[in-house]
Amino acid sequence: MRPLQMLMRVVGMPTCREMAESLTGALEDGLTTRDRRRAAMHLTVCGNCRRFRRQLDLTREAVVRLPVPPVPPDAKAQLPQSFRRRDDR
Ligand SMILES: [Zn+2]
Repeated sequence: MRPLQMLMRVVGMPTCREMAESLTGALEDGLTTRDRRRAAMHLTVCGNCRRFRRQLDLTREAVVRLPVPPVPPDAKAQLPQSFRRRDDR
């Protein structure tokens, strides 16, 4: 284990793996205020996780800007039937 990782463990900061899970949203909603503070501390000292977060932010921004493809007319016509079938369940 690298010295920085060992220090993070000793002071109770999340590991880089835990940070990756948190940053990708898998655990983000479940974080307590204390966990968020520890994650912020981790980002302060870990350049790798800061770069990873920046890449995620850029990816999210790029995806949001992608044009939404038009819905084919056939699919559009079938939507009301699909919702009715779903309500029947
Ligand atoms: Zn890290």
